[in-house]
Amino acid sequence: MVRHIAILGSTGSIGRNALRVIDALGPQYQIVALSAHSNAELLAAQARRYKPEFVAVTNADYAEQLAELVSDLDVEILAGPDALIEIAQLQEVDIVLTAVVGAAGLPAVLAAARCGKQLAIANKEPFVIAGELLRKEAKENGGTILPVDSEHSAIFQAMQSGRREEVNKIILTASGGPFRRASAEDIRNVTLEQALSHPVWDMGPKITVDSATMMNKAFEIIEARWLFDMPVEKIQVLIHPESIVHSLVEFVDGSVIAQLGTPDMCLPIQYALTYPARVAGIAKHLRLEEIRKLTFERPDLETFRALSLGYEVARTGGTAAAVFNAANEAAVQEFLAGRIKFVNIVELVEHCLSKHDVKTNVSLEELLEADAWARREARAGVKCKVKNAKGNS
Ligand code: MG
Repeated sequence: MVRHIAILGSTGSIGRNALRVIDALGPQYQIVALSAHSNAELLAAQARRYKPEFVAVTNADYAEQLAELVSDLDVEILAGPDALIEIAQLQEVDIVLTAVVGAAGLPAVLAAARCGKQLAIANKEPFVIAGELLRKEAKENGGTILPVDSEHSAIFQAMQSGRREEVNKIILTASGGPFRRASAEDIRNVTLEQALSHPVWDMGPKITVDSATMMNKAFEIIEARWLFDMPVEKIQVLIHPESIVHSLVEFVDGSVIAQLGTPDMCLPIQYALTYPARVAGIAKHLRLEEIRKLTFERPDLETFRALSLGYEVARTGGTAAAVFNAANEAAVQEFLAGRIKFVNIVELVEHCLSKHDVKTNVSLEELLEADAWARREARAGVKCKVKNAKGNS
C-alpha cells in the first residue's frame, strides 16, 4: 500500500531528515505536498527531486521567487499561512508530518486531526498549546497521532508492552543541555554562543536555546500529559546526559520498558511513518559496548526553573500552556536578537504566566488570543527590562 505524505516545514532540520528517511523507505512512500516558510530555493530543489503535486510558502512574499524556480515543473503553488491548512486537508494525503517551528502550524494540525489523517507531529507546540483540543478532535474523527519527538516516540514504543491502565509512570529523559552542571550564578552569565552549542543533538536555534533553559523538557511534560492522557503526577524527568535511553515507561508490576537508540531523529521520524511496522532504515545502530556507561540523575528544579513552571502549567491546563509557549517563543527571539540575557528568558515567561487569567475549556480562537496576548506581554516586559538595565548602569 502506497502512503501519501505531506510535510509541513520540509526545509527545516526535521523536514530535511524526513526526506532522507523517505528516500530510503522507497517508492511506497510518496510525497504529495511540501511547505516552507521562506526558503524558496531549497523548497524548489526538493520539488524537483520529490515531484510533489503541491508546494507552499507560508510567507507569501516568496511565492513569486518559488514560481520562477519551479516554472518548468508540473506543481501547484500555494502561498500564505492558510496554505498549510489546505495541504493538511488534501484528499490524497494519508500522513501529515508537521515540523513547523513554533505555533504557526497549529491550525493546520487541527485541520488534519479533524479530517482523520495520520498525524506525525515533530514540533511540540501544537501539543503544548492545544493538546486537550487536539486529542479530542483526533479521537472524534478517527485520526491517529504519532509522536516524532524522540522522548515521546520512545514512550509510545514502550507503551506497546502493556495497557494504558497498567502504566505506573512515565520517565522522560533529558540530556540536561550545555548547562547541566551550571550553578544559578553561572546561568546568569551565559552568552548567546554558549546557549547555541548543544553537546548531543544538532538542532535549530530555537530548540537549542529551549534545551539550554530546559524549557524544551517543560514542554515535553505538557506534551506527554496530553499525548498519553497521563496525570502530571505520573510524569517524571530524569537527566541522562548520554541521550541513549530516549525515555522509559514503568508498569504497575515494576517492570520498566525503555527505548534506546543512537541520538538521531531519523529513527523516531521513520517509526511515525512506518508504524506499526518496523523496517530497516538509515539510522545508525547502537553499540552499547562502545557507550559502556549510562547515567541518570534528578534535575535541579531550582536552577532550571523552567521545569517547575512546566509541571505547574501542565497541572493548570486551559490557556496557561498557550501563554507559556508564546511568552517563551517571544523571549527566545529577543535573546537571539541580543536584546535580553539568557537568564531573562525564563523570568519573562514566569512574568507573563503570573499576569495571565487562565481560562479553561477553550476553543482554538481563545488559545490563539492567549498566545497573542502573551507575545505582547513578553515584548512589553523586554522594553521594561532594557529601560531598567539602562537606568542601573
Ligand atoms: Mg525531545
